[in-house]
Amino acid sequence: MTILDQRRSQMLGQMGITIWKSRPFSDHDSNGEELSSEDGVEVDEDPNVTNVLEPERFTSLEEVASAVRGCQRCPLSRERKYAVPGTGSPSADWMFIGEAPGRDEDLQGMPFVGRSGQLLTSMIVALGLTRDQVFIANAIKCRPPNNRDPVEDEVNRCKPYLKAQISMIQPRVIVALGRISARLLLDAHEKTPMSELRGDVHTYEKTGIPLIVTYHPAYLLRSPDQKRIAWQDLLLARSQLRRGSA
Ligand code: SF4
Repeated sequence: MTILDQRRSQMLGQMGITIWKSRPFSDHDSNGEELSSEDGVEVDEDPNVTNVLEPERFTSLEEVASAVRGCQRCPLSRERKYAVPGTGSPSADWMFIGEAPGRDEDLQGMPFVGRSGQLLTSMIVALGLTRDQVFIANAIKCRPPNNRDPVEDEVNRCKPYLKAQISMIQPRVIVALGRISARLLLDAHEKTPMSELRGDVHTYEKTGIPLIVTYHPAYLLRSPDQKRIAWQDLLLARSQLRRGSA
């Protein structure tokens, strides 16, 4: 067993999974974002704002990240420390999408840091990948105060950024982390329970990209008995990716 295999086994152990067979999955090079610019997008009071900021206006992930960092399109810009565009490989097969930055993410400008970020990293490593090989983002790029759920207007104003990222990355599978993320990505009713979202292979909009819903790592930290179920979700996601390459 290589050192990497040992590390994966340790990560699976942390997830409560004791049996694992190594299946190297992606040979993408590491390619993290290096984003810096003042190219922001200011508040637009047009209620039909999704038509104002077209995802097609962006020509690169760097451009999206620059716009997000300077964005003032919704009131969340006023209380954030840092916007969190997302990070990872621009040619990732996998996209992991959470709901919105939490306190640690807001302070660092990076998605999924802190304890839930460590668990997400363990999940990724258990799949035989690294964080640099996938793309990690949130549906909403700025932290809602006190981690409340984002409201519809914030969702609509922020939506073009994630849409542009997905369009440019063209992942082979999307994993929605948690109910809010799943609801936003699938345009599902706000009361749709996780039990109706999990376990199925959905499709992101009309792209044909398979979308799998699983629990948010923060929930898994509170409910470790659900880690095994989350692992099944990840295996379902991986089976979709393999199917796409058959
Ligand atoms: S949440 Fe989205 S739309 Fe609102 S300010 Fe941040 S980046 Fe802009």
